[in-house]
Amino acid sequence: PCGHDFCRGCWESFLNLKIQEGEAHNIFCPAYDCFQLVPVDIIESVVSKEMDKRYLQFDIKAFVENNPAIKWCPTPGCERAVRLTKQGSNTSGSDTLSFPLLRAPAVDCGKGHLFCWECLGEAHEPCDCQTWKNWLQKITEMKPEELVGVSEAYEDAANCLWLLTNSKPCANCKSPIQKNEGCNHMQCAKCKYDFCWICLEEWKKHSSSTGGYYRCTRYEVIQHVEEQSKEMTVEAEKKHKRFQELDRFMHYYTRFKNHEHSYQLEQRLLKTAKEKMEQLSRALKETEGGCPDTTFIEDAVHVLLKTRRILKCSYPYGFFLEPKSTKKEIFELMQTDLEMVTEDLAQK
Ligand SMILES: [Zn+2]
Ligand SMILES: [Zn+2]
Ligand SMILES: [Zn+2]
Ligand SMILES: [Zn+2]
Ligand SMILES: [Zn+2]
Ligand SMILES: [Zn+2]
Repeated sequence: PCGHDFCRGCWESFLNLKIQEGEAHNIFCPAYDCFQLVPVDIIESVVSKEMDKRYLQFDIKAFVENNPAIKWCPTPGCERAVRLTKQGSNTSGSDTLSFPLLRAPAVDCGKGHLFCWECLGEAHEPCDCQTWKNWLQKITEMKPEELVGVSEAYEDAANCLWLLTNSKPCANCKSPIQKNEGCNHMQCAKCKYDFCWICLEEWKKHSSSTGGYYRCTRYEVIQHVEEQSKEMTVEAEKKHKRFQELDRFMHYYTRFKNHEHSYQLEQRLLKTAKEKMEQLSRALKETEGGCPDTTFIEDAVHVLLKTRRILKCSYPYGFFLEPKSTKKEIFELMQTDLEMVTEDLAQK
């Protein structure tokens, strides 16, 4: 087109070189200072069949790489590309399972290779990639296998804290005593020791000199007792808090794991269901003419699996949501709803 002529041999070696370099996309005219692109039909007519095939491969590769809505499936050996269908563009709202605001949607290359569109790792919607990374990090940090029994320990710690704030040890035998009436005169149920709730000293010492039988005003003593119990309470609170955090993690983690487990079971179910359906339709084909469409069962299992996957990953999402935010409340309501529907579906 630019009028620069070269002999066929020169063209061929020049084009071969360019294709081998992987620069098939913008091969310019080899003439000095000419930036005319070499037309595809010229390339095809000059180079060998094999080179042409290579050229076309580059062509597809470059097309995928230059198109932000298409990506290669990251599974080794899988050469399929995936196009991201615009989410939320579906105004009919029939696909209620697609999240319009999802930042890292899961995509399927069509061969069952599910992956995250953004990080190309394991599919993890509705979490974004960072949350997912944090969650995996959290799991390695927490070593959940070692946390068995954490909820019991947490309860113990909670009990301990409650006792500390709501009871005092008997000054005589140390067994915890709860105050359940207004009067400061306490008697230990175990050793029958009579003492004052405020200063923990013998009740006998209390008389009108200390401000009346029912009011203890022994200031220094009270101060001392309060300091002691404060220290203990702070200690217990720390312990309680640590367990609370562990317990919170375990709460999310066990549910996460449960869904993962169910997912694996249901994946097996999909396989057996498929086999059974094939057997059934084969049997029906032999007896009668037509066979009923059974693909809906397979579809149902697919939907179930998708929901499972989303539910599973909704736990890490919830774990990192700010506590007590409205977003979290709404999220938890939705999660519960989805969970109920899923279990219902799994029953069928
Ligand atoms: Zn030229
Ligand atoms: Zn694939
Ligand atoms: Zn990701
Ligand atoms: Zn006692
Ligand atoms: Zn009393
Ligand atoms: Zn007292």
